[in-house]
Amino acid sequence: MAIELKKMLAEINKALRPELFSDYCPNGLQVEGKAVVKHLVSGVTASQRLLDAAIEQGADVIIVHHGYFWRGEDAAITGLKRRRLKTLLDADVSLLAYHLPLDAHSELGNNIQLAQLLGLTPTGELMRQNNQVMGLVCDLSEQISAQTLKQRIALALNRQPLHIEGGESLVSRVALCTGAAQQYIEQAAAAGADVYISGEISEQTVHSALEHGLHYFAAGHHATERYGVKALGDWAAQRFNIQHTFIDIDNPA
Ligand SMILES: [Zn+2]
Repeated sequence: MAIELKKMLAEINKALRPELFSDYCPNGLQVEGKAVVKHLVSGVTASQRLLDAAIEQGADVIIVHHGYFWRGEDAAITGLKRRRLKTLLDADVSLLAYHLPLDAHSELGNNIQLAQLLGLTPTGELMRQNNQVMGLVCDLSEQISAQTLKQRIALALNRQPLHIEGGESLVSRVALCTGAAQQYIEQAAAAGADVYISGEISEQTVHSALEHGLHYFAAGHHATERYGVKALGDWAAQRFNIQHTFIDIDNPA
């Protein structure tokens, strides 16, 4: 089956509501390709490797969490940016990108998808930015050890998290925010979390974890953000009756 690109875009925008967000990049259609879509490929980042793999598999549209045209970057179309855009335009393939709207969405978002993958049920919000939810707080029904949670993360993401052991061995309140959200460890501490899970780590994150007395898990920027775009791709495939392939281009960061 097939759907018009314009119709698909309108439906996805209706679901993710990008107009509600003040973001660092344009959300929605970033590069326009052919008018009709039969095969949607999803991936975390619109890198050259993802573009090449998607086009090889016959993608009409590529949908990602990390697209192009970030605020503050050089606007000139040169070097790797030229190669990526030329790849898309030559193949007549569209690029759709959803950044913050895809972190925050209550069903398809990276945060809720990660929580579900880890068997956690959200009981609150970590914080709000421009009135949009950023991160989740999950109260466990019974205490578990931080080591058990660490094993759960490693198993779910197929990757060992970096663990800063700043808290007690038993934990019951877990806060999480995917990607490069390590600075929100302050909000996690303020929310009374025993654990904060994000993607990346900075030098000062270690001190914050130790001094606030909580566990920090840097579980990978890429690894924590695989699941939103995959869920969005599955949702679109079902809704529009088109083919969907998620391509994981592994990234240790
Ligand atoms: Zn990200």
